[in-house]
Amino acid sequence: MNTRFDPDWAAKPAQPIPGNKRKLWHFHGGIHVPDEKSLSNGRALRPLPLPAELVIPLQQHIGAPARPKVGVGDQVLRGQVIAEAQGYISSPIHASSSGTVIAIEPRAVPHPSGMHSPCVVIATDGDDRWAELPEPIDFEAADAATLRERIRQSGIVGMGGASFPTNVKLNPGKDQPISTLILNGAECEPYITCDDLLMRERAADIIEGARIMLHMLGAPECLIGVEDNKPEAIEALRLEATLADDARLHVVEIPTLYPSGGEKQLIRILTGKEVPTHGIPAQVGIVCQNVGTAAAVADAVLRGIPLIERWVTVTGRAIAEPQNFRVRIGTPAADLVAAAGGYSGEVTKLLAGGPMMGLRLQTDAVPVTKSFNCVLALTGVESPDPGPALACIRCGTCADHCPVSLLPQQMYWHARAKDLDKVQDYNLFDCIECGCCAHVCPSHIPLVQYYRYAKTEVWAREKEKRASEHAKERHAAREARLERLERERQAKLRKKKEAITPKAKAAPAAGKPADASTDADEARKAKIRAARERAAAKKAAEGAPAPAAAEAAPSDADEARKAKIRAARERAAAKKAAAEAEATPAEKPAEKPADAPTQDTPADPEADAARKAKIRAARERAAAKKAAMEAGG
Ligand code: SF4
Ligand code: SF4
Repeated sequence: MNTRFDPDWAAKPAQPIPGNKRKLWHFHGGIHVPDEKSLSNGRALRPLPLPAELVIPLQQHIGAPARPKVGVGDQVLRGQVIAEAQGYISSPIHASSSGTVIAIEPRAVPHPSGMHSPCVVIATDGDDRWAELPEPIDFEAADAATLRERIRQSGIVGMGGASFPTNVKLNPGKDQPISTLILNGAECEPYITCDDLLMRERAADIIEGARIMLHMLGAPECLIGVEDNKPEAIEALRLEATLADDARLHVVEIPTLYPSGGEKQLIRILTGKEVPTHGIPAQVGIVCQNVGTAAAVADAVLRGIPLIERWVTVTGRAIAEPQNFRVRIGTPAADLVAAAGGYSGEVTKLLAGGPMMGLRLQTDAVPVTKSFNCVLALTGVESPDPGPALACIRCGTCADHCPVSLLPQQMYWHARAKDLDKVQDYNLFDCIECGCCAHVCPSHIPLVQYYRYAKTEVWAREKEKRASEHAKERHAAREARLERLERERQAKLRKKKEAITPKAKAAPAAGKPADASTDADEARKAKIRAARERAAAKKAAEGAPAPAAAEAAPSDADEARKAKIRAARERAAAKKAAAEAEATPAEKPAEKPADAPTQDTPADPEADAARKAKIRAARERAAAKKAAMEAGG
């Protein structure tokens, strides 16, 4: 029988719980909702018959999707790796039964948009033959790295809904000491009872899983938090903890209040610590795992069994026989519904998960994944249509019940106005989408939908930004590469040139004709040639004999000879002009000087003409002499 909730509990700062010696804290807000757990927790857990077809999604965890290792037509065995992890934040996927891979293709997966995602489809053969499993590990003799690797290879992720790879969560880093391991058995969502049944029936495995994780983390204590509406589970766990005789283990009964199973809320209740905004529990020395994850860790370490099945609740008043099943990963939800007697009435709402945080499904033809904990089929009576949303009346009720102490009303306004920066200023990403605000809103505003929309938009914007930054980095890297290649090319050319030059210099020295001459050589040769020409011309002008043919080039001899002839002619012309001027001054016509006679000018015109002729002859001689000198030098 369930313990009833004390409505005043949340208002009290801390109070001892009967049966516990521990002090508890309360978190802000929260709501009391009918838990509806008795619908499904009265029946014993049943294993679901093996389905004819398993549809196993490659993305069942936070991080990179797994990469298929098998192809269509391959035979696979139960527990065989069919897809391997890609990177540190990723997880491998195993075949949940033996059979043949008949497709690797997009199939409908649990998502509110009804989206399709790549899946490995296995036609089961009914033999359910195991693959070879790894050896069990004596965990007390093993180091943390060995155990983490086993957990990673076993494909274990958070089974409470977050799906974060467990080996990563169990590796907080050596600089981050862990003081407390918390196992989350609160299961605060209404209707869901699979963890309750698991704690009752696999308490010993949960305790073993807790001890393995304590060993890995080196933590001094483990607190297993269970809401007080699960007395059988609490009793079973306490019994196993006593049998284990491990003083580090404490089963803590906590008051039933939604959402006490939220990670940050449970940490607050059990330790009084606040995980910082945008922070993780390890920052306050805490690691938190789901009780189902603890059982899976025990399977992997102590038995070598990978995560290929989980426990699922099928419930709601639209289900004929609500109950819990042990289900292979990849089993269609429709098979679970059928095993629970099918639908018993009109289904108003079909959900994967609980009524507060579950994902609305458009079809039951979706597979069970590692974090899939419930198929919930609600009737119109259980989930009446709230009618159209009305205007916000600024009553503040949403803020009073928010377990994260956010301001849902302000977030709503900014999300509605698509002001993504502003909505982030109000710590949008601290919102755990618990639905408390929408549940209490008198205007029936679907507040959580606005927050989900805003988060999606922010993620899309960030993705775009990252893609653009990545493109810029790629461009810069390309430019740098081209520059480097050019530098390398130039260096190669330089080296080649340096290798050729010494050879060219060495060739004449070895008595061989040089193939090429340098500019300096050419200039030197031109200077020598010019000097020879000048010397030859000077000798010619002075009447000296030309240099011997063996010493001068033919062109030099020609030039000297021509200069000599020219000088001789000019001398002859000057001599003739002087003779004419002296011998026949009367025969020559009188020349009127261009200038008017001055008072010094002689009066005799003939004498004047003779004088001018003399001057002219003297001038011509001088000119001839000058020409001869120029020709010589
Ligand atoms: S509870 Fe609803 S109506 Fe009231 S302030 Fe919040 S959003 Fe507005
Ligand atoms: S859904 Fe978000 S905003 Fe609303 S109560 Fe929960 S945590 Fe607060």
